[in-house]
Amino acid sequence: MALLYKADPQRGARWRQLFAEHAPDIEFRQWPDTGDPADIHYLAAWQAPDDLATLLPNLKALLAISAGVDQLNLHTLPPELPVARMLDPSITAGMCEYATWAVLSLHRDMLLYRNQQQAMRWDEHTLVPAGQRRVGIMGLGQQGQAIARQLQGLGFALSGWARSAHQIEGVECFAGAQQLPAFLQGCDILICLLPLTAQTRGILDGRLFEQLPQGASLINMGRGGHLVEADLLAALDSGHLAGAILDVMQQEPPVAEHPFWHHPRIAMTPHIAAMTHPDSAFAVLLDNIRRHQRGEPLTGQIDRHTGY
Ligand code: NDP
Repeated sequence: MALLYKADPQRGARWRQLFAEHAPDIEFRQWPDTGDPADIHYLAAWQAPDDLATLLPNLKALLAISAGVDQLNLHTLPPELPVARMLDPSITAGMCEYATWAVLSLHRDMLLYRNQQQAMRWDEHTLVPAGQRRVGIMGLGQQGQAIARQLQGLGFALSGWARSAHQIEGVECFAGAQQLPAFLQGCDILICLLPLTAQTRGILDGRLFEQLPQGASLINMGRGGHLVEADLLAALDSGHLAGAILDVMQQEPPVAEHPFWHHPRIAMTPHIAAMTHPDSAFAVLLDNIRRHQRGEPLTGQIDRHTGY
């Protein structure tokens, strides 16, 4: 029985070592060297090959090595194939660090001070206490809830929005399209931590920005497809939004002419909020394989209907 790995080849070497050391009963193969495809029961991948059903006829599960699965075309995968995402604790740790940095940067006007330094200006701006800064989290899943816990420790006034109703101590929770306007009007800093699905694509658009308070800021840590980039530019340039920190973009990297590169009120990072680390991810992946072998449900299994 074999596992086929189809992701970053350099990290593949570490995955191979880990399998040899801790799961010698599972033969590790690395794309494109599939060997006899009939042996392959598990695919650990960032992106899946198109003709999966014919290519790997005995595939039992697709184990994504990322927290999001929007890069997979779920509609073209065999309908009964279980698909799981990666619940690697190091991803959540990275997301918490990044969100903390980004929220504090916006809270403490660091985009403004960066520009002032470049212009050699020494102007101070009034400090807002954390308890008066309202931080709203879109998406109260694995990442959103961990980030809420982290930000609670810093004293921010927190709210959250998800598809279904949640009860989280210290977080005012809103659910569904109906409660979105009420949620948005109380967000000085909005963090997007949604999965990219047909329902959430383009959700960060002009209509949404209008519902945020004057001077609000945006952090997008979800996917580039959530953001209508032209609408963000318009909202920043009109002065309605104060700033944006973006870890993800429609096209990564953005083209050289992209207006965000030099925008004074945008900070971009190259999709580095979190990364899968083979050492911590391996234990999660192996646990899922063992679960599958015992006939137990997978952790992080994707609902093929909702797409996340
Ligand atoms: P989860 O599946 O655990 O949580 C998703 C959350 O989004 C849930 O609370 C869910 O609601 C909510 N949601 C989904 N669809 C909708 C909708 N239509 N309307 C309102 N709420 C919705 O995902 P994670 O927290 O693990 O990850 C979220 C995303 O973060 C990933 O999909 C990925 O895109 C991104 N990510 C980015 C990384 C980076 O490096 N920048 C790294 C890791 C993740 P409900 O609770 O009701 O189901």
